[in-house]
Amino acid sequence: MTGPVTITDVETILTQPGQSRLVIVKVQTSEPGLYGLGCATFTQRVFAVEAAIERHLKPFLIGRDVDRIEEIWQMSMVHGYWRNGPVLNNAISGVDQALWDVKGKRAGMPVYQLLGGKSREAAAVYVHANGESPQEVADSAQCLVDEGYRHVRIQMGGYGGTASAMQRPQGSPAGNYFDPRAYGRAMLEMIAHVRETLGAEIELLHDVHERLSPIDAVQFAKDVETYRLFFLEDVLAPEDIEWFRTIRHQSATPLAMGELFNNPLEWRPLINERLIDFVRMHVSQMGGITPAIKVTALADTFGVRTAWHGPSDTSPVGHAANLHLDVWAPNFGIQEWYQPSEIEYEVFPGLPHVVDGYMYPTDQPGLGIDIDEGLATKFPCDEIVEQWTQTRRPDGSPARP
Ligand code: MG
Repeated sequence: MTGPVTITDVETILTQPGQSRLVIVKVQTSEPGLYGLGCATFTQRVFAVEAAIERHLKPFLIGRDVDRIEEIWQMSMVHGYWRNGPVLNNAISGVDQALWDVKGKRAGMPVYQLLGGKSREAAAVYVHANGESPQEVADSAQCLVDEGYRHVRIQMGGYGGTASAMQRPQGSPAGNYFDPRAYGRAMLEMIAHVRETLGAEIELLHDVHERLSPIDAVQFAKDVETYRLFFLEDVLAPEDIEWFRTIRHQSATPLAMGELFNNPLEWRPLINERLIDFVRMHVSQMGGITPAIKVTALADTFGVRTAWHGPSDTSPVGHAANLHLDVWAPNFGIQEWYQPSEIEYEVFPGLPHVVDGYMYPTDQPGLGIDIDEGLATKFPCDEIVEQWTQTRRPDGSPARP
C-alpha cells in the first residue's frame, strides 16, 4: 500500500493585475505535478498575510496528509492559540481552498461535486452601478440591464455619497469625508428615481457600508421598504449588530450582512434569531471553504440565504471557490460579481465567465482555476498607504470606511 500524498511546499503569490492587491496560496504535493490554489486575500494587509503563511503556517504544514482537510483546518485554527483574526483566517483559507482544489483534482471532480453536487446550473450574479446623480446611476444600471444582468447594486458618489455642501472646522485634515445624514437623504432620492426609471422587474440592491448611526439605519431601512430592494447591505456595523432586532421589528426590507465578520460569534445570533436574510461573508476572511460549508448549512436551517462577498478584493481563485459553493448550496441567494479585466483573465486561466447575468462553472477537476505565475510577477503589489479607508465625518473625526 502506498503512503499518503503529502504537502511538500506552500508558496505565497502576491500580485495586482487589477485594482486590488491579491494573495494566492499554492500548495505543492508529493505527487508530481499535483498542486492546489487558494485565496488568502486581505487586500489592505497582504504582507501580513504573506508572513503568516511563510513564517507560521508553512513550517506547520509540510509533510501533512493532503486528504485531511478538516483536521488541518481545525488544527491550523487552534495552533496559534489566539484565533479568529483576519490575517490568520485568510492565511488558513489559502491553504484550505488549495486542499479542496487538490482533493477535487485527485477525485477527477469539480469541488461542487465533492460538496454534494449541483442544485442549479449557474449562479445569478449582481454587479455595481454608480454615478454622481440619480440619473447617472439609472443610466449606469440600465447599461448593465442591457448586458443581461437582472440584479444591480446602485450607489451614488461611492460609499457614503458626496456631500459638497459639507461644513468642516478650520484646519481639518485631508481624508475621505462623508456626512451620514446627508448620505441617507440623497440615497433615498436616488433609489426612488432608479426604481421609477427601471421599473419593478429589475432587482435593486444597495450597500450602506456601515455609514449610518444605528438609529438612522433603523429609519433608512423603514424608508426604503417601499422600493422593494432585493437586499440592503451592511446597514449596521458589526459593532452594532444588536440593533438588527430593532430594524427587524419595524421593516420588511431584506437585510444582508457579514463581509467584515471573522468569528462564528458574529454571524450565529443573526442567523439563529432570523434577524437577517443573507449571509455575505468574505469566504477567505472566515477561513475558507470548510467553514463556509458549515455556515451555509446553519443558515439553511433558519431560512437565511447566501450572498458571498465578491468584489475585486476577492481574488479570481476566491471567486472560483464562491462559485462552487453557489451552485451547490440549496439556500444560495445571489453572488456579487466584479467584471474582471482581460488581463485578469490572462493571469488566471479558468476565471469564470458570466453570460446574461449567470456565472457558469466548468466540469474541470478541483476549483477549475489556475495562475500564470510568470505573468503574475509582472504585476507586483503596490506599497502605497491606502487613502480611501482614511475616512472622516464632517467634523474631521475618524469614521469606519
Ligand atoms: Mg459591501
